[in-house]
Amino acid sequence: MKLRNPNVCGDHPMNTFIKLLMVVFCSSLLSATALAKPDKVDGINVPSGRIPQKIKNNKYPRTYYPNTEKIGKEEMRITAIGTGMPNQSPSNVAASFLVELGNGESFLFDVGTGATDRLAGLEVDYAKLDKVFASHLHTDHVGDIAGLWVAGWLNGRYTPLHVYGPSGSSPELGTKVHIDHIRAAWAWDVTSRAGTLPNAGGEIVAHEFDFSKTAVIYNKNGVKVTTFPAIHIRDGSVSFRLDWNGLSFVFGGDSVPNKWFAKEAKGADVVVHECFFTPEQWMAIAGFPYKQAYWVTSLIHTPPEGFGKLMSMVKPRMAVAYHYWNHRDIELEIFERVRKTYDGPLTMADDLTVLNVTKGHIEVREVTFNHEAWPMGTSKEWDTAPRGEPATGLSSDWLIKGKLKGMNPAPTQPIE
Ligand SMILES: [Zn+2]
Ligand SMILES: [Zn+2]
Repeated sequence: MKLRNPNVCGDHPMNTFIKLLMVVFCSSLLSATALAKPDKVDGINVPSGRIPQKIKNNKYPRTYYPNTEKIGKEEMRITAIGTGMPNQSPSNVAASFLVELGNGESFLFDVGTGATDRLAGLEVDYAKLDKVFASHLHTDHVGDIAGLWVAGWLNGRYTPLHVYGPSGSSPELGTKVHIDHIRAAWAWDVTSRAGTLPNAGGEIVAHEFDFSKTAVIYNKNGVKVTTFPAIHIRDGSVSFRLDWNGLSFVFGGDSVPNKWFAKEAKGADVVVHECFFTPEQWMAIAGFPYKQAYWVTSLIHTPPEGFGKLMSMVKPRMAVAYHYWNHRDIELEIFERVRKTYDGPLTMADDLTVLNVTKGHIEVREVTFNHEAWPMGTSKEWDTAPRGEPATGLSSDWLIKGKLKGMNPAPTQPIE
């Protein structure tokens, strides 16, 4: 990783004129970067100075650079944030898909371990990332919830994070208890930030629903999300379907192929479903003995041929396979196996595959992002959202007395 040059405004010998120029340059640089604030373009927050273009006649640039394209009013943009496994590869972090709609709203389906790194690279507007739909409570699907909760709070979310997730076979195995424990586990973190950050952004709210029912669990502003059961080791795994403006996105959490998915995904526009390794691949990758490798790959997950058979039943406008590593020697074999049972439109998703979807067109590309990206900064709404004073009185007196004197600077600006 490249480091910033700290001596841009440094003390190198130079003549007075150049020094003067540098002073002007440095002060303009400082004034330009003193406050990280997004620009608002057509009501959408984008990083300062970024000008998103309107896409005409489906002429998309070959690569998608974050925040450089407007989503059309009738368009849905789906980004594979993470497509891999609990034991991540740097090329494939764990499961997460982001759906952005032409009405300005964003929806996250799963936030597996590593997903927040990708979201940072996408320079997302965290204020919008306030809804997560969790397919089940494996770390590779919800492992980064706490990270999103707190990172989003620092980076612009001034409202609670809402997590919609399934019940389990008993209350302690459901989403509500999971979120209650996340809140409890991070009490030190959240109480230490309270006051500095907006009060409401520090809240995380569980919306637990019955895993065993097909039901609409979200219905606002013309966006409908339906849950239906999935079969994955134990009770409490589900899949989702999002409908908006005549477009549909189906997200399969972990499952073997099942009748609910075949019914709910039928004819949908974009259908995402897991498509797992073969036992032999998993033995080679993870070192599992055959018995365990077979159980994982072929009994609790969907093998490539099963994915293909399911998609042949569902017939989506675009089938999307994920939940494996896209290393060449692995992916080619999975692809060939899928093609034995399915010959329709197919995307083998890797991290940061992006699909732009309208009624007449689906564009599939890859995202390229800046590995040194900064957050776009907090909005005026975040600045002015209700909050208390920064936390004080949380350290013992004896501890405070150990503070070295003269180390903390006096304020250089008025503090209200
Ligand atoms: Zn999984
Ligand atoms: Zn799982």
